[in-house]
Amino acid sequence: MRLDALPHGSVSLDPRTLPGPVWIVSPHPDDEALGCAALIVALTDLGREVHALLVTDGGFSHPNSPSFPRARLAQTRLSEWRAGLAALGVPETRTHALGLPDGALDRVDPADLGREVNRIFAAAPPATLLLPWRRDPHPDHRAAWGPVWGAAPPTARRLEYAVWLPERGDADAWPTPQEARVWSLAVAAARSRKAQAIAAHATQLGGISDDPHGFTLASEMVERALTGPELYFEAFVQAVPAAQEASA
Ligand SMILES: [Zn+2]
Repeated sequence: MRLDALPHGSVSLDPRTLPGPVWIVSPHPDDEALGCAALIVALTDLGREVHALLVTDGGFSHPNSPSFPRARLAQTRLSEWRAGLAALGVPETRTHALGLPDGALDRVDPADLGREVNRIFAAAPPATLLLPWRRDPHPDHRAAWGPVWGAAPPTARRLEYAVWLPERGDADAWPTPQEARVWSLAVAAARSRKAQAIAAHATQLGGISDDPHGFTLASEMVERALTGPELYFEAFVQAVPAAQEASA
């Protein structure tokens, strides 16, 4: 499905309506750069307190690279993530990383994950939470959704951002008109800073050349992210998932 064929149209998002503290949750380093950089720029420019939480270590993108064994790759990706966020106005002191296994989040006990996220959120309980869309087509994004959603205060405003949905999502992955409001945010005003944030992720842009099966962000994906708009889905039902409620 293409952006210009959205199932039920979208409304322009006004970042001033989003209260702080704002938390951006990224299952992988680069999700926020691709999916919500323009919104982060708008929020930090407004002076909002913005925190970022990285769930996995990002260490599975190049599993066969001799020069980047997993520990080195994970450390490098953490630095890239922080550099990208700094370009968007989020200081390192407001970055938090759980270091869970990239590519295997669905094997982490959701209750344990929820408790960890809840512990981190306690530093500045989110009034606004940005997390990947519940059916964004990556298993780690889907596995993160319930525990992260359930870890925020019930009163937090929750916006779910699209990362892989336009590229890889089938029709069922998109929200239905009954399920969520669709917000869009133009990228143009923040394009150069968003480009800086994406460029910080050098390991994902061909910077590691000794793993023929390693992951590289397609230039079309980067171009789409820089063209925009960014998409945010706000579910009409903001209830906490039952499984998470039980574990909280
Ligand atoms: Zn991701």
